[in-house]
Order: sequence, then structure tokens, then C-alpha cells
Amino acid sequence: MSQSKYIFVTGGVTSSLGKGIIAASLAKLLQSRGYRVTIQKFDPYLNVDPGTLNPYEHGECYVTEDGAETDLDLGHYERFLNVPTSQANNVTTGRVYQTVIENERKGVYLGKTVQVIPHITDEIKRRMLVLGESGDYDIVITEIGGTVGDIESLPYVESMRQLIWELGDSNAIVVHLTLVPYLKAAGELKTKPTQHSVKSLLELGVQPDILVCRTEHPLSPDLKKKLALFCNVQGNSVIEARDLKTIYEVPMAMLKEKLDKVVLAKLKLKSSNEPNLEQWSNFLFRLEHPKSEVKIALVGKYVELPDAYKSISEAFIHAGAAKECEVQVTYIHSEYLSPENVESKLKGFAGILVAPGFGSRGIEGKLTAVKYARENKIPFFGICLGMQISVIEFARNVVGFSDAHSSEMSADTTHPVIALMEEQKEMENYGGTMRLGAYDCELVKGSHAAKAYGKTKISERHRHRYEFNNEFKEAVQSAGMKITGTNPKTGLAEIVEVENHPWFVGVQFHPELKSTVENPHPLFVGFVGAALNFKG
Ligand code: GLN
Repeated sequence: MSQSKYIFVTGGVTSSLGKGIIAASLAKLLQSRGYRVTIQKFDPYLNVDPGTLNPYEHGECYVTEDGAETDLDLGHYERFLNVPTSQANNVTTGRVYQTVIENERKGVYLGKTVQVIPHITDEIKRRMLVLGESGDYDIVITEIGGTVGDIESLPYVESMRQLIWELGDSNAIVVHLTLVPYLKAAGELKTKPTQHSVKSLLELGVQPDILVCRTEHPLSPDLKKKLALFCNVQGNSVIEARDLKTIYEVPMAMLKEKLDKVVLAKLKLKSSNEPNLEQWSNFLFRLEHPKSEVKIALVGKYVELPDAYKSISEAFIHAGAAKECEVQVTYIHSEYLSPENVESKLKGFAGILVAPGFGSRGIEGKLTAVKYARENKIPFFGICLGMQISVIEFARNVVGFSDAHSSEMSADTTHPVIALMEEQKEMENYGGTMRLGAYDCELVKGSHAAKAYGKTKISERHRHRYEFNNEFKEAVQSAGMKITGTNPKTGLAEIVEVENHPWFVGVQFHPELKSTVENPHPLFVGFVGAALNFKG
């Protein structure tokens, strides 16, 4: 059995309480005391990974270094901890069943009837322990997706119950995140929903060790005592989690509530090393005391659900803090953007970002936004599809290929400036078959990109099927759009920049995925800097 300690985070009463942020904040506090911590998430849906999900379902798909398509909570883990995650950090029910069914076909179960218990639960337990057994971590935090009581999460709760028993006293604990709602008419905070959700856990054989209570109002000592008594936890184990201005304040709030100390005591780990949160506090101070502000337009088609652009909006927060300015991001729906209204919709922004995406919807609006930014010399940042659109716009309006397009949107264009690579043409399955994960890129000295990074060799994460078509490299470059970043192995164009423009950068990769509190992404910092100059 492994040496690591395990913390399970469950959610009760309702979804969207922020289990991911609580898990990441607790992890941050433990890390700041010198522990090696990682967080993993178990999602109860049947998709093998969220790569095939529409962003409207669960928000953006976060991609790890090793090319796993994962839940957006992994983005929070990386932004808080500044440590990369991997495929092992995100498991879905679909993946668990896939393994078990493949095993069954191989005859691994020796003629037994294959069942949820023990076969599915054993596979879940194996995956819950994998990161701990690597020896790389002192503490593994496991976030169980969904809400306790859901049919879908039952096998996870059962696996957790078994593991807690197997790992033995003080090696595994449960932190239950719950809601203590305020009833305006009664003028009171109500504990009953929490009592019920703890009761559901108890029916499944799990006693939570710590309650973290989301609340809009302070929990009085009496109320904490009541919760402790009726939910059978120690008095110091009822933690208040008030609504805060930014998620980045949560670690500090949890520190004040001594969540880390209570956890360490229960795991019999020493808490003598005081947390070192100097960098974090500096970041928070800069975030909360901006010296200026800058307005950025984010043009995309999933703007009804800002979670679809989670990593981009967080990267702006990091870059803003670095530049001591408040970045105000306005979401502009690309479907409703046209040459007729572009002036009224985009005027006044000091920077325009065209977002990643898939499919034809909203493409014309994105082309309009690129043209507007290019012609008016407004700082422009195109990410993935946004970069591809910037190439199409340039090919059409500057090079003169009037039907230029991506073969994703138009199969019969005579100028497929963005096209499928050979290896992608043979793909039969949609899941997990894009160009995914980290790839090296070499930058041209003196380019905006090289200036932003301060070096010429970088590595960034990808998630796309289509590429800049090198057949048109000559035509595009000689007209003034330069390829300033190239994959050294394949020769694929990874970055384009338009000449004679203050800052026009399109990147085929997803820089937002690598921006963290401690390492704000250089391109976002560069873009915000350019927007500040433009405004000035
Ligand atoms: N749809 C484009 C492609 O597959 C861009 C993908 C993206 O923006 N992530 O290449």
C-alpha cells in the first residue's frame, strides 16, 4: 500500500458549489507548507473523456501536457499549484467501464460475472491510488464529481468507502462541501440541507471528517456547533466558506479558517512548517490594487457560457496582475457580428481576441473582427481557430484569394489555406484523435512572440485537427503575414504575425492552458501590454 495520504472531496446539496476551487485552495495551503500535493478528479459521466463534449455542457475542455482532454477543474489545479497534471488526474465513468469491458474481452476475469461491485469499484480504487503509488506525492486530493445522492456517483462513493477502510485510520479523510442557504423571509441560515446530505453519505457508509460550508453570511459559533453536533463532526471541523470577490482569495480564507491545520491533524501530518504564501499574497495584492484598466473584446461563439473560455479569462487575470491593471473582458458573440455593426460593437476596445472553436457557426463574425483589428491597428490575439481565421482573413483581403478558407468549413475552396494534415485524414474516431498536448516551437528572433517569451525555444499545448497549409506559405509571407513560430520537427506553422501592426499575433496552440498565478503567460502579458500602449 502506498505511503501517500488521501483526501476525498465530495459535494452535497447542489452542484456548482466550487469543489474544484476548494480542492485547489486546500492543495495550495498544503503545498505552501512543503508537502508534495496533487489533485485528481473523477467525473461520473459516460464519455471516455470530455473531448467530445460541446463546451455548453461542462465548459471548456482542458488539455494537459501529455495530451489528455480533461475537465476544466484541472485548469484550476494547475493555475493554483503551478504543477502540471496528466491523464491520470482525470477519470470518467466511461473510461473506467472501457477498461473493465476491455479486460472482460481479454478474459482477465477468468469466467466470473463482471459486476459494478467488485469490478467497477476495484478499477476506480486502482485509479484513485495510481498517483499516490507513483511516490511523487505526499498527499493526493480526489475530487468526486457530481453531488452525493446522484445515482451516477454511487460507485465512486462506494470505492471511497472501501479505500478509507483499507487505508486505515488517519490515512484518508473526507471533506464534504455543502451549502448553508440563507432564507430571507426567515432571516436565517438553514442547516437542514447539510444535515440531509451528510445523512445520504452516512447511508452509503461514509462519515465526513470535515464540512466546508458555502454561505453568503457568516456562520455563528452556535450554528457551527449545531452543524457539528447533527453531522457528527468535531467542533473545529466545520469550516465557513463565504462568497468572495475572486477565487484567488479562497486559499487565504481557508487559511484563516484553519482548514489546512485541521486536515493535517486528522492525517497525523505535522503542521509545524508555517505556510509560505508570499508569492500568492503579492499576486493578490496586485490583483486587488490595479493602477489602470484596459478593455478587451473576446470574440467567440460560446459566449453565453463564460466557462467555455475559463482558461482564457483566468490568463487575463494573471496577466492583468503582472501589469498591475484590471483587464475588463467583454464577450462578443461572433454570430451577431457583421461588417455593418462591427464599428459599434468593437469600437473602444484596446485589444481584440478571437477565440478557439469548432465548426462553421459564427465564422463570418470572427473574420469581421480580425479585419477590423488588422485595419485599425488594434492589438490582436488569435488563439487556435482564432489564428486560423486570421490567416483566412489575410489570404482573402490582403493576398487576394477571395475564396480562401479552412477545409473544415469549406471542402471545395480553391485556396484551403488551413487544411487537414495527411495523418488526420485517416482518422475514423472523433475522440482523442486531434493534435493534442505539448509540442516544441521555435520562434523567429525579434518577433513579438520572441520578445514576449524572452527566448526562442518554447513548448505549448495543442488541440486541433487543421493546420496552416504550407503550400500558401510563400504567398502569405510575401504579402506581410510572417510565420514567427514553427514546429522544428514537422515544419508546421505555429505562430503568425502581421507586419506593420502594433501587435497582431495568432497562435495555433493554446497558451491560456499554461498560465498560472506564479507564471502568467508571456503572450497574455505581451497582449495586455500592447493593449495598454494602444490605449495610452
Ligand atoms: N477547429 C479548429 C481545428 O480543429 C480549431 C480548434 C480549436 O480552436 N481548438 O483545427
